[in-house]
Amino acid sequence: MSVYCPECGTENPEGAIHCSLCNADLTIISPSPKYSWDKAASDTNNYTKNGGWFRSYLFESILMTVCCCLPMGIVGIVLSSQATAAFKAMDYERADRKANAARRAVIWGIVLAFIGFLVMYIGGFLEDK
Ligand SMILES: [Zn+2]
Repeated sequence: MSVYCPECGTENPEGAIHCSLCNADLTIISPSPKYSWDKAASDTNNYTKNGGWFRSYLFESILMTVCCCLPMGIVGIVLSSQATAAFKAMDYERADRKANAARRAVIWGIVLAFIGFLVMYIGGFLEDK
């Protein structure tokens, strides 16, 4: 993300302290707050309050259990069912926390499965030698 000079409007690279054209102080404007706000919003919005739509990552967790990484898949299923239960109890804060944990379990499951395949591949390669 670039930083725009408040004096002359020149685009400067992220983290720049002074404008490359007019040498104005760029530290007074911060490019990061909007980004982190957007990120925080997306992290805590697995549901929409008006639509009643809720994302618990149950499907991903089941897929994970069936396809590649059984332990993380089960963790994901447990967390997503806890998230759904919390959502039904209208405990949205807890539901979000659980759904985010389920999402992390799914992501970690993919990472672990990938590492597992890589190790098996390298192991097989070494045995052939
Ligand atoms: Zn400038």
